[in-house]
Amino acid sequence: MANVKFEHITKRYGDVTVVSDVNLDIADGEFVCFVGPSGCGKSTCLRMVAGLEEITEGRLYIGERLANYVPPKDRGIAMVFQSYALFPHMTVNANISFGLKIKKVPEAERREKIKWALDLVDLGGLGERYPKELSGGQRQRVALARALVLSPEVLLLDEPLSNLDAKLRLKMRTELKRIHKMVEATVIYVTHDQVEAMTLSDRIAIINLGQLMQAGPPLEVYARPNNMFVAGFIGSPPINLMQAKLEERDGKLFVVTPDFALSLPEDKAAKARAWGGGPQDFGELSRAVVLGARPQDIYETAHAPAMPWTGNTIRAIVDVMEPLGDAVVATVLAGQQVLQVTLPPETEAQSDRPIDLIVDLSNIHLFDPQTEEAIF
Ligand code: ADP
Ligand code: MG
Repeated sequence: MANVKFEHITKRYGDVTVVSDVNLDIADGEFVCFVGPSGCGKSTCLRMVAGLEEITEGRLYIGERLANYVPPKDRGIAMVFQSYALFPHMTVNANISFGLKIKKVPEAERREKIKWALDLVDLGGLGERYPKELSGGQRQRVALARALVLSPEVLLLDEPLSNLDAKLRLKMRTELKRIHKMVEATVIYVTHDQVEAMTLSDRIAIINLGQLMQAGPPLEVYARPNNMFVAGFIGSPPINLMQAKLEERDGKLFVVTPDFALSLPEDKAAKARAWGGGPQDFGELSRAVVLGARPQDIYETAHAPAMPWTGNTIRAIVDVMEPLGDAVVATVLAGQQVLQVTLPPETEAQSDRPIDLIVDLSNIHLFDPQTEEAIF
């Protein structure tokens, strides 16, 4: 096993910067997902670890060793691509054996390792088949076996499940977690799918426009996003973001939209005041902010848990109801604001009817509209 350390890693193509000053320390045996929109630089980061792309600036360490100039085959890594990249004219056994042959592993040992890897990915008995005789899911498992058989210290996976249908993807996710436990390699996993990243990782690294926005355990980035991008990218349905203002009313601080006002609890009001330039009151000087409230933190009053605040209700009209079985996602209109809220299946809400909502103020977020950084 090995840790992987990105130190001020930058990648430029000509004068286009595609990865910008990324700093990240991935621990030995950790499972880290790089997640972000298409084109944000995830694959480029992974390919720099693999040694398939030159690093323009910064230092990459694999284990204790500076790896910038180490050839790919000497890095102790193995990579799995979205496209599988199996040799079509070779059997499964031969595909898996290929890397071992290059490493000059003796035949008896090769056979043993192939059997181990095929059993691990649940493909025992299919070694004599050709890739075209396998389903997409099975091919992806062969690609995984081919990587695992090399006993990599670091396993690199680039959207390995994207070509599989939804059900198979779920199954493979569970398999990957199980396999990770058994092989104990450090894993860097690239995906554009935040749900996949949330369910698989020890830590998620969220990338946007070549920059690392935040790295942390799934529940931490969900509950405490550093900025608006992370807040909007993590969570499903996505967080509701609204233009709002901070206003002082009778000594209390409110987040005010044109359609409703939320009274800030003391701890949050203190943070908002500190952000406003000090422990002052805002008086006439209202400040623009962006309010974030997750659909899961807005309750139908009739089904809400007890909450210790007042000034946290919203009157709205239900627009669309989307039943999911274990919950209903309702799109509601609070004046001009379009909000999504997650309701329990027993909700009596109906399209085009009013609904009373109550917001869990302990979980709301405020962002600076200029910098998009979180105020809390
Ligand atoms: P992701 O994997 O997050 O979708 P990539 O890492 O593949 O994104 O690409 C990041 C950016 O770098 C994209 O804008 C892409 O167009 C650009 N890019 C990738 N490879 C090259 C290249 N060889 N030359 C120029 N630009 C490239
Ligand atoms: Mg990619």
